[in-house]
Amino acid sequence: MDLTRSHYSAADLTAPSYRLEYIKAFAPKTLMYHFLLSTAAFRCMTSNDNPPISQSLRGTLQKDAEMQADFMDEMIRIHKNDGLDVRHGVSCPEWHVHEVTKMCVHGNAEPWAKD
Ligand SMILES: [Zn+2]
Repeated sequence: MDLTRSHYSAADLTAPSYRLEYIKAFAPKTLMYHFLLSTAAFRCMTSNDNPPISQSLRGTLQKDAEMQADFMDEMIRIHKNDGLDVRHGVSCPEWHVHEVTKMCVHGNAEPWAKD
């Protein structure tokens, strides 16, 4: 997740529709699914396009009611977190799974993090 977040941040990427469909099919309800869907939600929420949701994403969401609800969850999460961009900020604990390893030391923001 750290590498993915770093790559998406550095290249200013957000997930296209086909990637959302792929991750939903093969790894639903995972951190990666949550991350990719949030980048798409963030793109829409900050877009100057009209309408802000592209035809491609609209088509993807129209095919999958569960993804529609997950997408709305991400939009609400972003709104409640003052426009949180999941591509930035500290990774732990939100983006790490520590089952047998120790939690990361807090305060160690990644070099690429804007916060
Ligand atoms: Zn960690």
